[in-house]
Amino acid sequence: MKVLRNNLTSLISSFLVLLVCIFFRDTLGLQGVVIVSFISAVFLFAFEALVRRYALEKTVAIMKEHDPALFKETPESIERVEEEIALWSKKQSEFLEEYRSREQFRREYIGNISHELKTPIFSIQGYIHTLLDGAMDDSKVAKKFLKRTAKSVDRMTELVKDLEAISKIESGLYEIQLRPVVLLNLIDDSMDTLESFITKHKAEVEVVWEVNKDVQVVCDSARIEQVLDNLIVNAIKYSPVGSSVLVVIHEKNDSVFIDVRDHGFGIPEGDLARVFERFYRVDKARTRNEGGSGLGLSIVKHIVEAHSEEITVNSKERVGSVFSFSLAKVMR
Ligand code: ADP
Repeated sequence: MKVLRNNLTSLISSFLVLLVCIFFRDTLGLQGVVIVSFISAVFLFAFEALVRRYALEKTVAIMKEHDPALFKETPESIERVEEEIALWSKKQSEFLEEYRSREQFRREYIGNISHELKTPIFSIQGYIHTLLDGAMDDSKVAKKFLKRTAKSVDRMTELVKDLEAISKIESGLYEIQLRPVVLLNLIDDSMDTLESFITKHKAEVEVVWEVNKDVQVVCDSARIEQVLDNLIVNAIKYSPVGSSVLVVIHEKNDSVFIDVRDHGFGIPEGDLARVFERFYRVDKARTRNEGGSGLGLSIVKHIVEAHSEEITVNSKERVGSVFSFSLAKVMR
């Protein structure tokens, strides 16, 4: 069928030649009709094959000029060229689609960064100008304004540090050094780091061990401490002042799970899936008051996944949240 369709022109022409020969059968005789028709058919088919080959090579040459990687070898038929071109154009449109979504992501990312930087920069600018315009002469006011300026500088530093971490993670430069670690030491270190933050927020953090306290896990202790700090800070930040936070350590199969549970504001169901996205904030006004870059949870997720482990969240509005991540247990 395909052969017939590909050589339709030759076939029709041969048929016409046959008709003409039949018309002149008195002059040609039966033998003449057969010979002339046969020779014409061979000639027509050969001619069409040549023309097709020429067209094919021309098409391939033009396509190669546009994209040298397109054809490694000359395809055997025009149909094959068409198939390859269709495949190529599908790949091109997929690539274009991905490029567009990356471009959109890049634009949003830059927009978010400038938005985050704008707030502290404008406030620093405002305080400095007010100080220069005379507020500096009143030492009490000057001190108050300088303290606020320092807070904005801290916020910018935190944002820049988080941005640096994100860009390192994305460029594959964020190295994870896996070692057996005594979990108790890691948690104690985290508690020491957070001591003044916990006191400042009048919070209480209780560690509950449902596994042996000498349990060891495989991890990069500095990174996992960063994860734990971040989750505990969030649990305190997004709870009323004076709330209590539980850090529960339990195990299942070959994994140790660390849950950070709070009785805070919780996260609406519709936002749960997005809290690990960069710059995603549930309550913009509250989170901005509390500081924070909006990058914390996305860094946390990257770190946990770089350990080939998982982090999950469960939350109910006005009831509280549980962030839980796993680590591989050292078997003894
Ligand atoms: P941020 O710097 O804003 O805290 P994160 O990436 O750490 O950024 O968190 C993203 C958002 O997830 C927060 O802005 C907050 O709305 C929400 N969130 C995170 N942890 C909690 C929690 N324990 N309880 C309620 N909301 C939380």
